[in-house]
Amino acid sequence: MGVSFDKVDGSIWLTFENQPAPNPVPEKDRAARLVDPGFGRIFTDHMAIVRYDQAKGWHDARVESRANFPLDPATAVLHYAQEIFEGLKAYQRDDGGVNLFRPDANARRFRNSAERMAMAPLPEAVFIEAVEQLVRIDRDWIPGGEGSLYLRPFMIASEIFLGVKPSANYIFAVIASPVGSYFKGGPAPVSIWVSENYTRAAVGGTGAVKCGGNYAASLRAQAEAIDHGCDQVVFLDALERRYIEELGGMNVFFAFDDGSLLTPPLGTILPGITRDSIIALARDAGTTVREEPYTIQQWRTDAASGKLKEAFACGTAAVISPIGKVCSASGDFLINGGVAGPVAMGLRKQLVDIQYGRAPDPHGWIRTVF
Ligand SMILES: *Cc1c(COP(=O)(O)O)cnc(C)c1O
Repeated sequence: MGVSFDKVDGSIWLTFENQPAPNPVPEKDRAARLVDPGFGRIFTDHMAIVRYDQAKGWHDARVESRANFPLDPATAVLHYAQEIFEGLKAYQRDDGGVNLFRPDANARRFRNSAERMAMAPLPEAVFIEAVEQLVRIDRDWIPGGEGSLYLRPFMIASEIFLGVKPSANYIFAVIASPVGSYFKGGPAPVSIWVSENYTRAAVGGTGAVKCGGNYAASLRAQAEAIDHGCDQVVFLDALERRYIEELGGMNVFFAFDDGSLLTPPLGTILPGITRDSIIALARDAGTTVREEPYTIQQWRTDAASGKLKEAFACGTAAVISPIGKVCSASGDFLINGGVAGPVAMGLRKQLVDIQYGRAPDPHGWIRTVF
């Protein structure tokens, strides 16, 4: 495998060896799977994979048939959860070309996640190259219309050792899954359950890192939300149990009657790329956006007084989901009468239009693959 010096950022980067799948899914079957793919159960023919060990560094970069990983039962990730991931999408434009949305931001966040989890940082250029190679080889799997190809880069600790220490070996891989439009006939507002028994992240912990462990720790609270008839859980801060942090996998925004927006500050929340993009688009339009703490009590009061007009959750998978109802042990309340509002829907359209290349891209967020 060729190893060369990347002049752009000075990092080592790799030449990927391409081994196209000998038996890809036949075109007819693929077309059938793309009709209503749902989320995360259908996969493309290939994966990108790069290995790391302390002696060789990053090496053995390939794009090959999607296949099982043989893992020894003592592989570190299976015991101590040294694992991180990312999520981004490839979008088919009306002219047949393909866009990625801010893959550089995912690459940077992946690097930050690796550092926090004491894993080998992957050069950002290698991350982007792996994603692009996979999109190129599996281009035919990108659904048209409002669908997209969800890309899932991830890294696992692959050293075979039961001692507790940072792994000496890692596997970085990217898989891809065609996904449909999250919403048919417009996004349905979600109901959310305020978790008072469980928290997601504490100061000094891993809340700002995209690691599987955060999700494992959130599942009990999510199950509690479902038990209470809600779609999603929203977490409060771990210290005072008052401030809204975020949902299990989405950031949150509040829209007020004076036209301003508020979103919880960075720190223990995941720094969402959708969150960052919404802040930028809103500020472009002259909207005041505050990144400030907001309590559940204030939320309830502002919803009752009419000061709060809308609330919505955001993330790559669903883009923007309006929040219609908030439920908690101390009672429920509706937001905007339980229906989607114009602020959430307007921002959603703006963002989606940029992603699909239907609107100008003033911030240079789009990277065209084709
Ligand atoms: C990935 C993620 C988000 C959303 O991030 P995006 O970059 O907008 O997709 C929000 N919260 C958590 C916990 C996440 O893991």
